[in-house]
Amino acid sequence: MTEQANTAAPASGSRASVKKLKTAARATAYQKEWFMGLKERVESGEPLAIVNADVPQEILRAMDIPYVVNQWWSAVCSAKQMAPYYLNLLNECGYRQDLCRYCSLALAAAIDPEPEKGPWGGLPKPTVAITRLTCDSQAKIFELLAQEYGVPFYPLENTVPLQIPDEWWTKARRNWDELFEPHRLDLMVEDFKGLIRFLETNTGKTFSESRFKEVMKLVNEQAEYNKKTRDLIARTIPAPVSITDTVQTVMVPQWQRGTEWAVDIARSLYEEVSDLVERKEAANPNERIRLAWVGRGLWFNLGFYQHFEEKYGASFIWSIYLGLAADAYARYGEDSLRTLASRFVGMEDMLHMPPWNSDWYVKEAKLNQIDGVVHLISDSCTQGAGGTYFIKKAFEAAGIPVLQLRADPVDARSWDDSAMIKELEQFLEERVKVRA
Ligand code: SF4
Repeated sequence: MTEQANTAAPASGSRASVKKLKTAARATAYQKEWFMGLKERVESGEPLAIVNADVPQEILRAMDIPYVVNQWWSAVCSAKQMAPYYLNLLNECGYRQDLCRYCSLALAAAIDPEPEKGPWGGLPKPTVAITRLTCDSQAKIFELLAQEYGVPFYPLENTVPLQIPDEWWTKARRNWDELFEPHRLDLMVEDFKGLIRFLETNTGKTFSESRFKEVMKLVNEQAEYNKKTRDLIARTIPAPVSITDTVQTVMVPQWQRGTEWAVDIARSLYEEVSDLVERKEAANPNERIRLAWVGRGLWFNLGFYQHFEEKYGASFIWSIYLGLAADAYARYGEDSLRTLASRFVGMEDMLHMPPWNSDWYVKEAKLNQIDGVVHLISDSCTQGAGGTYFIKKAFEAAGIPVLQLRADPVDARSWDDSAMIKELEQFLEERVKVRA
């Protein structure tokens, strides 16, 4: 049976996105090449870690431990229209249909009796599993996954802030010790030391301080290019690119953080966008409305956004992916492990906790000259759905219309394309006041 045989029919109306940038094509093509290389390394006896997106991958990079990011794998399965197969498998095993879907596809791959039929020959068996306790379900999903594979599991603690910051994005790069309470950083540094010991014990690899410093430097270089790209798109009307091109071109290298390749892609993206601006070439020459997509990408239907460009001149030019890559990753400091802790300690707050996230969304909407916001909410994700009332309120207070669209970012089974298009068209016509 081929890979195709496990592939469910595409969701109704699901369409591939049409990318324009050469860098986007390079980044997308690299994923498969990298994954096949990773599989070869694992087959030849190297360890493999399966990690959640908010785990400090820089430590694994510095230890030369190959790793797969849970949410990256979910996006790949979804884009290949395999999520329905995996989610049905979980349901057949007794997990209810509306359980966390975005973070469960690697668990489904672990229980799949024919794992080799997954994307690109399937996920190899990991050596260790690592997550952070940032929501109620993470620990359970990774514990079950580790049990299924019979491998050790390391859960990293999560803390919450007791202070509400003013404009965190102005302090995160260099003044992060004013932003995050010291006890939070202290605990995270100790947790990271525990993780390094766990990895050394279970993989036989060793941690190199000098290599770690190089990785941290490369991550900052990548983040600075992302900031320049975000700023350029923000001030250019019509926008040189839309999220159709930027989401994958930012996220594929985000999971390769700390490599020369990732810096090269971030630089290439910036140069290609600059070139378009100089030549006055727009993603959509008929841009009349600039939209922001708040929330996770619609991984099984990345071409969805383009319909509104064509019909209304309404371009999705902003997503959390480039925005966060520009504001939330760069960190400068003398003590590398504490500096790394400052990258992760508040990530959950920035993404999911009002007013950390809502203030930043509004700041980004204003900077990017956004006319309307579409917020994808997946109700089964308690982590992501929690603060949505306050996000809506913050946009409305700023005079920016917002549509809350309820759908799962990977579960194509529940997607009703025509209903979603109708809802968004109604929003554009009635709230953003644009005609087809
Ligand atoms: S609550 Fe959300 S982030 Fe947490 S495991 Fe479920 S889907 Fe993932």
